[in-house]
Amino acid sequence: MRIRLEGVTKRFGTVTAVDRLTLELEPGRLVALLGPSGCGKSTTLYMLAGVLRPTEGDIFFDGVRVNDVPPQRRNVGMVFQSYALYPHMTVFENIAFPLRMQRLPEPEIRRRVHEMAELVQVGSLLDRRPEQLSGGQQQRVALARALVKRPALLLLDEPLSNLDAQLRQAMRAEIRRIQRELGVTAVLVTHDQTEAMSIADWVVLMNGGRCVAQGTPYDLYQTPPNRFTASFIGHPPMNWVQGRVSGSRLQVDGLPVYLPLPATAREGEVAIGIRPQHVQLVAPGRGHLDGRVTMIELLGHEKLVTVEAGRVPGGVAPSGPAGPTAGTGLRLQALVPADAAVVEGEAVGVR
Ligand code: ATP
Repeated sequence: MRIRLEGVTKRFGTVTAVDRLTLELEPGRLVALLGPSGCGKSTTLYMLAGVLRPTEGDIFFDGVRVNDVPPQRRNVGMVFQSYALYPHMTVFENIAFPLRMQRLPEPEIRRRVHEMAELVQVGSLLDRRPEQLSGGQQQRVALARALVKRPALLLLDEPLSNLDAQLRQAMRAEIRRIQRELGVTAVLVTHDQTEAMSIADWVVLMNGGRCVAQGTPYDLYQTPPNRFTASFIGHPPMNWVQGRVSGSRLQVDGLPVYLPLPATAREGEVAIGIRPQHVQLVAPGRGHLDGRVTMIELLGHEKLVTVEAGRVPGGVAPSGPAGPTAGTGLRLQALVPADAAVVEGEAVGVR
Protein backbone atom coordinates (compact mmCIF):
# COMPACT_ATOMS: atom_id res chain seq x y z
CA MET A 1 0.00 0.00 0.00
CA ARG A 2 1.29 3.43 -0.95
CA ILE A 3 1.09 5.96 1.84
CA ARG A 4 1.17 9.69 1.46
CA LEU A 5 1.19 12.32 4.15
CA GLU A 6 0.56 15.88 3.00
CA GLY A 7 1.39 18.70 5.37
CA VAL A 8 0.31 16.64 8.35
CA THR A 9 0.34 18.53 11.63
CA LYS A 10 -0.76 17.29 15.03
CA ARG A 11 -1.12 19.67 17.94
CA PHE A 12 -1.94 18.80 21.53
CA GLY A 13 -2.95 22.14 23.01
CA THR A 14 0.12 24.31 22.60
CA VAL A 15 2.44 21.38 21.81
CA THR A 16 3.07 20.75 18.13
CA ALA A 17 3.96 17.05 18.09
CA VAL A 18 4.08 16.72 14.30
CA ASP A 19 4.79 19.75 12.18
CA ARG A 20 3.75 19.90 8.50
CA LEU A 21 5.02 16.44 7.69
CA THR A 22 4.98 15.51 4.02
CA LEU A 23 6.06 11.99 3.13
CA GLU A 24 5.54 9.40 0.44
CA LEU A 25 6.10 5.78 1.43
CA GLU A 26 6.47 3.27 -1.37
CA PRO A 27 4.43 0.06 -1.30
CA GLY A 28 6.15 -3.00 0.14
CA ARG A 29 8.82 -1.07 1.94
CA LEU A 30 9.79 -1.37 5.55
CA VAL A 31 10.13 2.22 6.67
CA ALA A 32 11.68 3.23 9.97
CA LEU A 33 10.54 6.42 11.65
CA LEU A 34 13.66 7.27 13.59
CA GLY A 35 14.47 10.12 15.93
CA PRO A 36 15.09 11.22 19.49
CA SER A 37 12.47 10.94 22.21
CA GLY A 38 9.57 13.33 21.71
CA CYS A 39 10.23 14.03 18.02
CA GLY A 40 6.75 12.94 16.96
CA LYS A 41 7.34 9.38 15.74
CA SER A 42 4.61 7.72 17.77
CA THR A 43 2.13 10.50 17.04
CA THR A 44 2.76 9.98 13.33
CA LEU A 45 2.20 6.24 13.71
CA TYR A 46 -1.03 6.76 15.68
CA MET A 47 -2.29 9.01 12.89
CA LEU A 48 -1.52 6.27 10.33
CA ALA A 49 -3.41 3.82 12.55
CA GLY A 50 -6.36 6.18 12.77
CA VAL A 51 -6.19 6.38 16.54
CA LEU A 52 -5.31 10.08 16.26
CA ARG A 53 -6.65 12.53 13.72
CA PRO A 54 -4.38 15.14 12.12
CA THR A 55 -5.03 18.73 13.22
CA GLU A 56 -4.11 19.78 9.69
CA GLY A 57 -3.13 18.02 6.50
CA ASP A 58 -4.17 14.78 4.84
CA ILE A 59 -3.24 11.11 4.88
CA PHE A 60 -3.77 8.97 1.79
CA PHE A 61 -3.68 5.17 1.47
CA ASP A 62 -3.32 4.22 -2.20
CA GLY A 63 -4.55 7.67 -3.16
CA VAL A 64 -7.64 7.55 -0.94
CA ARG A 65 -7.91 10.13 1.81
CA VAL A 66 -8.29 8.26 5.09
CA ASN A 67 -8.45 11.09 7.65
CA ASP A 68 -12.00 10.08 8.56
CA VAL A 69 -11.61 6.30 8.25
CA PRO A 70 -11.69 4.60 11.69
CA PRO A 71 -8.85 2.24 12.71
CA GLN A 72 -10.82 -0.98 12.21
CA ARG A 73 -11.54 -0.07 8.59
CA ARG A 74 -7.97 0.83 7.62
CA ASN A 75 -6.67 -2.73 7.05
CA VAL A 76 -3.71 -2.15 9.35
CA GLY A 77 -2.04 -4.46 11.84
CA MET A 78 -0.67 -2.78 14.90
CA VAL A 79 1.90 -3.67 17.50
CA PHE A 80 2.32 -0.94 20.04
CA GLN A 81 4.71 -0.92 22.95
CA SER A 82 1.81 -1.05 25.40
CA TYR A 83 -0.46 -3.17 23.25
CA ALA A 84 -2.48 -5.29 25.68
CA LEU A 85 -3.51 -8.84 24.84
CA TYR A 86 -7.00 -10.02 25.72
CA PRO A 87 -6.36 -11.24 29.29
CA HIS A 88 -9.14 -13.80 29.41
CA MET A 89 -8.09 -15.52 26.17
CA THR A 90 -5.35 -18.07 25.59
CA VAL A 91 -2.42 -17.26 23.32
CA PHE A 92 -4.10 -19.31 20.61
CA GLU A 93 -7.35 -17.37 20.90
CA ASN A 94 -5.52 -14.05 21.00
CA ILE A 95 -3.76 -14.80 17.74
CA ALA A 96 -6.91 -16.31 16.23
CA PHE A 97 -9.09 -13.35 17.18
CA PRO A 98 -8.61 -11.22 14.02
CA LEU A 99 -9.27 -14.31 11.87
CA ARG A 100 -12.45 -15.12 13.77
CA MET A 101 -13.58 -11.55 13.11
CA GLN A 102 -13.02 -12.30 9.41
CA ARG A 103 -15.07 -15.49 9.84
CA LEU A 104 -12.45 -17.73 8.25
CA PRO A 105 -13.05 -21.50 8.34
CA GLU A 106 -11.76 -23.20 11.51
CA PRO A 107 -9.08 -25.38 9.79
CA GLU A 108 -7.58 -22.32 8.14
CA ILE A 109 -7.62 -20.43 11.43
CA ARG A 110 -5.77 -23.32 13.11
CA ARG A 111 -3.23 -23.54 10.31
CA ARG A 112 -2.49 -19.83 10.26
CA VAL A 113 -2.33 -19.47 14.03
CA HIS A 114 0.13 -22.36 14.31
CA GLU A 115 2.21 -21.04 11.44
CA MET A 116 2.41 -17.58 12.99
CA ALA A 117 3.03 -18.93 16.49
CA GLU A 118 5.99 -20.95 15.22
CA LEU A 119 7.32 -17.91 13.44
CA VAL A 120 7.41 -15.79 16.59
CA GLN A 121 8.48 -18.74 18.80
CA VAL A 122 5.40 -19.06 20.96
CA GLY A 123 4.33 -22.42 19.53
CA SER A 124 4.66 -24.12 22.93
CA LEU A 125 2.67 -21.44 24.75
CA LEU A 126 -0.61 -21.61 22.87
CA ASP A 127 -2.66 -22.77 25.87
CA ARG A 128 -1.37 -20.12 28.26
CA ARG A 129 -3.01 -16.87 29.19
CA PRO A 130 -1.17 -13.53 28.83
CA GLU A 131 -0.58 -13.27 32.60
CA GLN A 132 1.44 -16.49 32.39
CA LEU A 133 3.82 -15.00 29.82
CA SER A 134 6.89 -12.80 30.15
CA GLY A 135 6.74 -9.29 28.70
CA GLY A 136 8.78 -10.41 25.72
CA GLN A 137 6.51 -13.36 25.08
CA GLN A 138 3.46 -11.10 25.26
CA GLN A 139 5.02 -8.81 22.71
CA ARG A 140 5.64 -11.74 20.38
CA VAL A 141 2.03 -12.80 20.69
CA ALA A 142 0.97 -9.24 19.90
CA LEU A 143 3.15 -9.36 16.80
CA ALA A 144 1.62 -12.66 15.71
CA ARG A 145 -1.86 -11.25 16.23
CA ALA A 146 -1.06 -8.17 14.13
CA LEU A 147 0.39 -10.24 11.30
CA VAL A 148 -2.04 -13.12 11.19
CA LYS A 149 -4.66 -11.28 9.17
CA ARG A 150 -2.07 -10.19 6.60
CA PRO A 151 -2.80 -6.49 6.74
CA ALA A 152 -1.90 -4.07 3.93
CA LEU A 153 -0.03 -1.94 6.43
CA LEU A 154 1.85 -3.11 9.49
CA LEU A 155 2.53 -0.52 12.17
CA LEU A 156 5.16 -1.26 14.80
CA ASP A 157 5.87 1.01 17.75
CA GLU A 158 9.15 -0.09 19.35
CA PRO A 159 7.93 -3.69 19.17
CA LEU A 160 11.22 -5.25 20.20
CA SER A 161 11.97 -3.14 23.24
CA ASN A 162 10.92 -5.83 25.72
CA LEU A 163 13.05 -8.55 24.18
CA ASP A 164 16.53 -9.51 25.28
CA ALA A 165 19.36 -8.62 22.92
CA GLN A 166 19.66 -12.02 21.28
CA LEU A 167 15.94 -12.52 20.73
CA ARG A 168 15.67 -8.95 19.57
CA GLN A 169 18.14 -9.54 16.79
CA ALA A 170 16.43 -12.77 15.79
CA MET A 171 13.04 -11.06 15.79
CA ARG A 172 14.35 -8.22 13.64
CA ALA A 173 15.31 -10.74 11.02
CA GLU A 174 11.94 -12.46 11.46
CA ILE A 175 10.00 -9.22 11.03
CA ARG A 176 12.06 -8.50 7.94
CA ARG A 177 11.49 -11.92 6.46
CA ILE A 178 7.76 -11.95 7.21
CA GLN A 179 7.36 -8.43 5.87
CA ARG A 180 9.09 -9.38 2.61
CA GLU A 181 7.20 -12.63 2.31
CA LEU A 182 3.84 -10.92 2.71
CA GLY A 183 4.91 -7.86 0.71
CA VAL A 184 3.24 -5.77 3.39
CA THR A 185 4.13 -2.12 3.74
CA ALA A 186 5.47 -1.62 7.24
CA VAL A 187 6.25 1.41 9.35
CA LEU A 188 8.42 0.88 12.40
CA VAL A 189 8.95 3.49 15.09
CA THR A 190 12.27 3.33 16.86
CA HIS A 191 14.73 5.62 18.60
CA ASP A 192 17.45 3.01 18.06
CA GLN A 193 19.39 3.91 14.95
CA THR A 194 21.10 0.52 14.83
CA GLU A 195 17.69 -1.11 14.69
CA ALA A 196 16.48 1.28 11.99
CA MET A 197 19.61 0.81 9.92
CA SER A 198 19.59 -2.96 10.17
CA ILE A 199 15.94 -3.57 9.38
CA ALA A 200 14.62 -0.76 7.18
CA ASP A 201 14.64 -0.20 3.41
CA TRP A 202 13.98 3.44 4.02
CA VAL A 203 14.65 5.62 7.02
CA VAL A 204 12.73 8.79 7.86
CA LEU A 205 14.69 10.75 10.43
CA MET A 206 12.57 13.11 12.49
CA ASN A 207 13.38 15.95 14.85
CA GLY A 208 11.00 18.45 16.41
CA GLY A 209 7.99 17.01 14.58
CA ARG A 210 9.62 17.35 11.18
CA CYS A 211 11.38 15.10 8.74
CA VAL A 212 15.02 16.22 8.70
CA ALA A 213 16.25 13.55 6.30
CA GLN A 214 15.07 10.46 4.52
CA GLY A 215 16.75 7.85 2.42
CA THR A 216 18.19 4.36 2.40
CA PRO A 217 20.22 3.50 5.50
CA TYR A 218 23.34 3.41 3.34
CA ASP A 219 22.79 6.87 1.86
CA LEU A 220 21.94 8.47 5.18
CA TYR A 221 25.09 7.02 6.67
CA GLN A 222 27.40 7.77 3.73
CA THR A 223 26.04 11.14 2.63
CA PRO A 224 24.07 12.69 5.47
CA PRO A 225 22.41 15.87 4.18
CA ASN A 226 22.87 17.80 7.41
CA ARG A 227 24.69 17.82 10.70
CA PHE A 228 21.79 16.43 12.73
CA THR A 229 21.66 13.35 10.49
CA ALA A 230 25.42 12.93 10.57
CA SER A 231 25.41 13.08 14.35
CA PHE A 232 22.39 10.87 14.91
CA ILE A 233 23.28 8.06 12.52
CA GLY A 234 26.34 5.91 13.04
CA HIS A 235 27.85 4.39 16.13
CA PRO A 236 29.96 5.45 17.92
CA PRO A 237 28.97 9.04 17.15
CA MET A 238 30.99 11.24 14.83
CA ASN A 239 33.85 13.40 15.93
CA TRP A 240 33.17 17.07 15.30
CA VAL A 241 35.95 19.58 14.86
CA GLN A 242 35.95 23.15 13.72
CA GLY A 243 38.12 24.21 10.86
CA ARG A 244 38.65 26.47 7.95
CA VAL A 245 38.78 25.68 4.25
CA SER A 246 41.16 27.61 2.10
CA GLY A 247 41.84 26.23 -1.34
CA SER A 248 42.45 22.49 -1.05
CA ARG A 249 43.73 22.93 2.45
CA LEU A 250 41.80 22.29 5.56
CA GLN A 251 43.05 23.84 8.75
CA VAL A 252 41.92 22.38 12.02
CA ASP A 253 42.46 24.53 15.09
CA GLY A 254 45.78 25.81 13.79
CA LEU A 255 47.07 22.42 12.74
CA PRO A 256 47.78 22.14 9.02
CA VAL A 257 45.89 19.10 7.78
CA TYR A 258 45.57 18.22 4.13
CA LEU A 259 42.44 16.39 3.15
CA PRO A 260 41.02 15.53 -0.26
CA LEU A 261 38.30 18.16 -0.21
CA PRO A 262 35.50 18.02 -2.77
CA ALA A 263 35.67 20.65 -5.51
CA THR A 264 32.44 22.07 -4.14
CA ALA A 265 33.96 22.85 -0.73
CA ARG A 266 33.31 26.46 0.10
CA GLU A 267 35.98 28.68 1.57
CA GLY A 268 35.49 29.65 5.16
CA GLU A 269 34.59 28.23 8.54
CA VAL A 270 33.39 24.65 8.51
CA ALA A 271 32.31 21.93 10.90
CA ILE A 272 34.10 18.71 10.06
CA GLY A 273 32.52 15.39 10.92
CA ILE A 274 34.84 12.42 11.08
CA ARG A 275 33.57 8.98 11.98
CA PRO A 276 35.63 7.07 14.58
CA GLN A 277 35.86 4.25 12.01
CA HIS A 278 37.81 6.63 9.77
CA VAL A 279 40.34 7.77 12.33
CA GLN A 280 43.54 5.75 12.14
CA LEU A 281 46.15 5.53 14.85
CA VAL A 282 49.75 5.46 13.66
CA ALA A 283 53.19 5.99 15.15
CA PRO A 284 53.85 9.50 16.50
CA GLY A 285 54.99 11.80 13.70
CA ARG A 286 53.46 9.59 11.00
CA GLY A 287 49.94 10.97 11.04
CA HIS A 288 48.24 14.29 10.34
CA LEU A 289 48.59 15.23 13.96
CA ASP A 290 50.00 13.82 17.15
CA GLY A 291 48.34 13.26 20.47
CA ARG A 292 48.06 11.16 23.54
CA VAL A 293 45.64 8.37 24.36
CA THR A 294 43.45 9.41 27.29
CA MET A 295 40.86 6.66 27.36
CA ILE A 296 40.17 3.19 25.93
CA GLU A 297 36.73 1.59 25.97
CA LEU A 298 36.34 -2.00 24.90
CA LEU A 299 33.27 -2.56 22.70
CA GLY A 300 33.48 -6.28 21.99
CA HIS A 301 35.68 -6.93 18.98
CA GLU A 302 36.62 -3.28 18.66
CA LYS A 303 37.72 -0.60 21.04
CA LEU A 304 37.09 3.10 21.14
CA VAL A 305 40.24 5.09 21.73
CA THR A 306 40.05 8.72 22.80
CA VAL A 307 43.00 10.84 21.78
CA GLU A 308 43.72 14.38 22.90
CA ALA A 309 45.76 15.99 20.16
CA GLY A 310 47.79 19.10 20.77
CA ARG A 311 47.50 22.43 19.06
CA VAL A 312 51.24 22.69 18.80
CA PRO A 313 52.42 24.02 15.39
CA GLY A 314 54.17 21.32 13.42
CA GLY A 315 52.12 18.58 15.00
CA VAL A 316 54.41 17.87 17.92
CA ALA A 317 52.94 15.52 20.49
CA PRO A 318 51.98 17.19 23.75
CA SER A 319 54.53 16.38 26.40
CA GLY A 320 54.06 15.32 29.99
CA PRO A 321 52.13 12.34 31.35
CA ALA A 322 48.80 14.18 31.53
CA GLY A 323 48.86 15.30 27.91
CA PRO A 324 47.33 18.61 26.93
CA THR A 325 45.22 20.41 29.48
CA ALA A 326 41.48 20.39 29.00
CA GLY A 327 40.21 22.81 26.40
CA THR A 328 43.46 23.31 24.58
CA GLY A 329 43.47 20.05 22.67
CA LEU A 330 41.54 18.50 19.86
CA ARG A 331 39.66 15.44 21.07
CA LEU A 332 39.17 12.61 18.61
CA GLN A 333 37.83 9.11 18.99
CA ALA A 334 39.12 6.25 16.90
CA LEU A 335 37.55 2.85 16.51
CA VAL A 336 40.25 0.21 16.24
CA PRO A 337 40.37 -3.59 16.50
CA ALA A 338 40.21 -4.82 20.09
CA ASP A 339 43.64 -6.41 19.77
CA ALA A 340 45.34 -3.24 18.50
CA ALA A 341 48.41 -2.53 20.61
CA VAL A 342 47.52 0.78 22.19
CA VAL A 343 47.56 1.76 25.85
CA GLU A 344 46.31 4.72 27.87
CA GLY A 345 48.85 7.52 28.17
CA GLU A 346 50.68 6.51 25.01
CA ALA A 347 51.74 9.05 22.38
CA VAL A 348 50.20 8.31 18.97
CA GLY A 349 49.86 9.83 15.55
CA VAL A 350 46.40 10.34 14.11
CA ARG A 351 45.50 10.00 10.47
P1 ATP B 1 9.25 8.56 22.23
O1 ATP B 1 10.37 7.93 21.45
O2 ATP B 1 9.72 9.11 23.55
O3 ATP B 1 8.03 7.72 22.33
P2 ATP B 1 8.10 10.11 20.06
O4 ATP B 1 9.05 10.59 19.03
O5 ATP B 1 7.28 8.93 19.73
O6 ATP B 1 8.85 9.92 21.44
P3 ATP B 1 5.57 11.44 20.48
O7 ATP B 1 5.09 10.44 21.47
O8 ATP B 1 5.01 11.41 19.13
O9 ATP B 1 7.16 11.36 20.39
O10 ATP B 1 5.39 12.89 21.12
C1 ATP B 1 5.72 14.08 20.43
C2 ATP B 1 5.46 15.28 21.31
O11 ATP B 1 4.07 15.42 21.54
C3 ATP B 1 6.10 15.20 22.69
O12 ATP B 1 6.53 16.48 23.05
C4 ATP B 1 4.97 14.73 23.56
O13 ATP B 1 5.15 15.15 24.90
C5 ATP B 1 3.76 15.38 22.92
N1 ATP B 1 2.52 14.58 23.10
C6 ATP B 1 2.29 13.34 22.62
N2 ATP B 1 1.06 12.91 22.93
C7 ATP B 1 0.48 13.93 23.64
C8 ATP B 1 -0.80 14.11 24.25
N3 ATP B 1 -1.74 13.18 24.19
N4 ATP B 1 -1.02 15.29 24.90
C9 ATP B 1 -0.08 16.24 24.95
N5 ATP B 1 1.15 16.13 24.39
C10 ATP B 1 1.43 14.99 23.74
